[in-house]
Amino acid sequence: MAFELPAAGHYFGAEHEAFRAAVRAFVAREIAPFVAEWDEAGAFPVELYRKAAAVGLLGVGYPEDLGGTPADLFMTLVAAEEIARAGSGGVQAGLGSLHIALPPIVAEGSAELRKRVVPPVLAGERIAALAITEPGGGSDVAALRCQARRDGADFVIDGEKTFITSGVRADVVTLAVRTEPENRGPGGISLVVVEGRPKGLQRTNLAKTGWWASDTAHLRFEGVRVPQANLVGEAGAGFKAIMRNFNHERLMMAAMACSYAEACTAEALAWARERRTFGAALVERQVIRHKIVEMTQRFEAARAMVYDLAWRTQHRVGDADALVARCCMAKVVATQALQFCADAAVQILGGMGFMRGTRSERLYREVKVMMIGGGSEEIMKDLAARKLGL
Ligand SMILES: Cc1cc2nc3c(=O)[nH]c(=O)nc-3n(C[C@H](O)[C@H](O)[C@H](O)COP(=O)(O)OP(=O)(O)OC[C@H]3O[C@@H](n4cnc5c(N)ncnc54)[C@H](O)[C@@H]3O)c2cc1C
Repeated sequence: MAFELPAAGHYFGAEHEAFRAAVRAFVAREIAPFVAEWDEAGAFPVELYRKAAAVGLLGVGYPEDLGGTPADLFMTLVAAEEIARAGSGGVQAGLGSLHIALPPIVAEGSAELRKRVVPPVLAGERIAALAITEPGGGSDVAALRCQARRDGADFVIDGEKTFITSGVRADVVTLAVRTEPENRGPGGISLVVVEGRPKGLQRTNLAKTGWWASDTAHLRFEGVRVPQANLVGEAGAGFKAIMRNFNHERLMMAAMACSYAEACTAEALAWARERRTFGAALVERQVIRHKIVEMTQRFEAARAMVYDLAWRTQHRVGDADALVARCCMAKVVATQALQFCADAAVQILGGMGFMRGTRSERLYREVKVMMIGGGSEEIMKDLAARKLGL
């Protein structure tokens, strides 16, 4: 990108930059040229998981004994930012669903469960998904109804999940269920791992506005048997695990939103330099230059929040409540920056911005899922207000 601003040296060292260069080359070779084609096809090839694993992209930040490469938070940010440069949230969501599915297993799962489930996913041999949202609602996680009843050595699962990223292709589903039916609140919720293609599990692909390259599934469980040994951590401790997981997901979504905003700004700038109207390049018009500066201001300001939050998280600065509040606010600010930049980029591209295949057109269609998924704007503000003690 022509007007690239150097990454902040105090957050990223030589190791991060070497990794950034490797991931950038991988994304430029294996992802960016194909995103429009994969969007139209409604899927990206499953081989991409193996290819990404081979360059160490999938395992970054995971323990070595599970096939990962231990790394700090900024290394995982580098991976997310560089994949985002390809300008396809669909590819990134599909490739990255393991990062919301595996962390609870790594953190809370038994040694046996971790060893069996995690390494094949990090090697790109299996696909993982996280299933929390239900047709009855996603924001109010504590009200979820999907039930896991104990029967001998198994759980028997009945219920529905919806909007599940990679849900159709997943070989491993980290599933939020109610294991304590008498407890209708958060204390009745557990996480359980569903493997393979069990009898009684029906999967339906959903059509959607954006993220076409990722599958988004409705899952129906009817008497699905899962060994009780697949319980992740303690029974009834699922809600806390889900909430911990959300913080990381939200931080990553905020980082991705900044990079998508940057990607459409770069496309708009390239277009504005090329396109001539009334005898001059668009970029020579002050109104267009100001628009591009304002786009840059928005994603740079959001990114400063994201990096500051990552640094505070890594160095455990401030109490947990303050970190959660900052995380919520960063997601809101970053996704609003994306909304502004995608809208402005499409406008600068004119009719071309409305044509399928440009990065700006694709990202424009993806704005709302970034503002709704992983915790909607209203829920983020509500949670921030509570954590700030307002
Ligand atoms: C493409 C896509 C992929 C997804 N992937 C996954 C996945 O992999 N796994 C998964 O579990 N989920 C996934 N989701 C679900 C996503 O996390 C939920 O859509 C989100 O949490 C919101 O839940 P909901 O859609 O049920 O909306 P609802 O909870 O029904 O909310 C509807 C609207 O009301 C607002 N609202 C709700 N409560 C309040 C309140 N108290 N005050 C004010 N406003 C309120 C919300 O902000 C929202 O705008 C995905 C969603 C999409 C669209």
